[in-house]
Parts: sequence; C-alpha cells; structure tokens
Amino acid sequence: MQLAARMSRIGIESAFEVLQRARALEAQGRHIIHLEIGQPDFPTPAHVKEAAKRAIDDGWTGYGPTPGYQDVRDAIADYISTTRGIHVEGDNVVVVPGGKPVMFFSMLAVLEPGDEVIYPNPGFPIYESVINFLGATPVPVPLVEERGFSFDLDVFASKLSSRTKMVVLNSPANPTGGVIPREDLARIAALLRERDVLVLSDEIYSRICYDGEPSSITQFDGMLEKTIILDGFSKTYSMTGWRLGYGVMPRWLVDAVDTLMVNSNSCTASFTQRAGLAALTGPQDDVDRMVAEFRRRRDVIVSGLNAIPGFRCSVPAGAFYAFPNIVGTGLPSHELAEILLHDAGVACLSGTAFGAYGAGYLRFSYASSLDNIQEALARIQALSARWEPVTA
Ligand code: PLP
Repeated sequence: MQLAARMSRIGIESAFEVLQRARALEAQGRHIIHLEIGQPDFPTPAHVKEAAKRAIDDGWTGYGPTPGYQDVRDAIADYISTTRGIHVEGDNVVVVPGGKPVMFFSMLAVLEPGDEVIYPNPGFPIYESVINFLGATPVPVPLVEERGFSFDLDVFASKLSSRTKMVVLNSPANPTGGVIPREDLARIAALLRERDVLVLSDEIYSRICYDGEPSSITQFDGMLEKTIILDGFSKTYSMTGWRLGYGVMPRWLVDAVDTLMVNSNSCTASFTQRAGLAALTGPQDDVDRMVAEFRRRRDVIVSGLNAIPGFRCSVPAGAFYAFPNIVGTGLPSHELAEILLHDAGVACLSGTAFGAYGAGYLRFSYASSLDNIQEALARIQALSARWEPVTA
C-alpha cells in the first residue's frame, strides 16, 4: 500500500520535532531549557477553566451546530468588530478546533493547482505546507530585517500576477515578532483592492503587541469583503491544548468551511466553546498581566542576545519570539541550533524551519520564565568562545 502522492508534498512543524528531541535528551538525564515551543507558559485564566467545568456538568457534551453556537459566533463577531473597528456579524464566523484549521479549510476551499499564493518567508511553516499539499504554487516574499521584518513592498508588488489567488499576511508574526506598519498595510490594500484575490490575515497574536494595537488589513476600504481573519484562543488566553479558534470571512466562504467541518470534525467541542465565551466576555486582566510579563522577558532576552558575540537581535514589536541574526557567528542556523541543544541544553529553532529566507537566524520563544531565559543566555554566552565572530 502506498501513500497518496500528495503526502510527499506536505510539510511539518519543526517546533514539535525539536521538542521531541529535547525530551529524549531529558530522558537521558540532561537539563534542557525549552525555548523552542510557541505556547504561553501561563495557566488558562481561572474563570475560563471554571466555565468549562460548569459546562460539562450542565451537559454541554453533545454535538453542537457545525459552525459553532450562535451566541459564541455573535460574541466573536462583537469582539472582532470592537477590536478592529469594523463591522462583522455572527454569520461571518466559523468556530473551529484551533487557528490552524482556518488556514487548512480556507486554502482547501479555494486553491487549485496553478493558483499562486503569496506568503511571508520566514513564516509559519504550515502556510507553505498546505499550499504545496494542495498542488498550488507557493510564492514566498522575503521579510526584511531592516524593515522590522515587514515586506519590501516593491518585491511584494512584483510577485503579484494574474494567477495570484491568495495572499497570506501575519501580523504580529511568527517567527520574527514583526508587526506590519499601518502604512504598509495601506499600500498592500491599494495593490489588492481591484484584484480578485483573497487575503488570509493571520491575527492570532493580535493581543500580544507591545506598541499599541496592530492594524488589520480589514480596516482598509474594500478589503473586509475579501479577507479571512484567523484568530483564536490559543495564544491570547493560554489555551493551546483546548483547540479553539475561529475564522471571520465572507458568507460564501462560511458555507464552504462549514461543509468541510461537517466532513471532518462535525463541530468544535461544545464545553470548550462555552469556555471561549467566558474568555471573551469575562475579565481580561490575565491577558494584560501575561502581555506585561512577555514585555519584561522580551527586553531581557533581546539585550542578552545582543551581548553574545556574533548575534544581532532587533526588538520584536509583538508575539513572544526573538529572532536574532546569527550570521556573525559564521555558523549555519541549523548547525548552531544543534550545538545549542546538545552542548548548552538550550532548545531553539533554526530560522530555516520557517522557510529558506530564515537562513542566518534562530528563533527563541520567550514563553518561558525569566530565570530560564537568563540561564539560557548565560549558557549560550559561555559557549560563544567556540565561534569566531565574523564581521560583515
Ligand atoms: N498562526 C500562527 C502564526 C501561529 O504561530 C500558530 C501557532 O503557533 C497558529 C496560527 C496556530 O494556532 P492554533 O494552535 O490555535 O492552531
């Protein structure tokens, strides 16, 4: 028996693979500091956990409506309308098990072989994986360190063609922590407004932003009708394992995603949705506290990385990742990541795990305690005598 040919085109997410290897080292008695995995290290807010427990006791344990409970969809629509300053309705919302299914289902619903998809590189690896899986053509656009890891807009414009079917934006971004400036979004909107393209706007880190609210492409004239907002509970409410996310999209696409949900999940877990409703409508202090703590850690990790010979780290404006340029160490990214794991016990990811333009970078998740971060920095500093800093 052979796997379908398309299975040779699907990718992986390295964070899970490195986590497994790090755990194997731990099983041998090594002490590893985990800076590879992208999940907040805070508990889910207490009132959200309570809402889930109550929901189970109250019988929210059966199948629910495929696109999500209407009151949950309405609450999400209110939340998105308020935070983005736009107007969307509950019927524009599909509740799914995590942010990832929004990517998967929306691409599955519209992409055909020959269609081109523009996406950020380095970027979340699942974009490229699903584009390839579906036989569409990936068109990576490099992110530019000197522009706060935004696109070079002339390069972006040059990649648009009559075959461009979808454009993926991610702000704040994984793995760079970059936030697309409002004026860049305005220019992107101007380039896309008259085209028959769909934008997948991955806004999963929208609440983890250190300099005010991030802008959304949906705020620009004519863009809401052609945009899917991907958001969810994993990062904002520290609910990665609950599997709860949503897409906000034009009605015609809601119907298509609904059909894909019927064929795959039937619905998203009922009691989890009740917990999500409590998260959105309840107190937000836990979110504020988490973001304040991330900011403290960001400042420590960025200055610590900048003190390491051969490292240069710009200050990320959002998410919880530091993405230092390590060209100055003279070592390729994957080799340095291996050395740090095996010889310093620090697990991080090679920039190339996020695409070819990630070469020369490492990704450190600072979703780990300040003590861990400081210990990791000390270990890397101690190891740095191993490489001869190269001057550019
Ligand atoms: N989008 C980006 C940019 C991410 O970094 C992640 C998770 O790491 C996701 C989407 C997926 O989120 P979820 O865990 O809710 O599926």
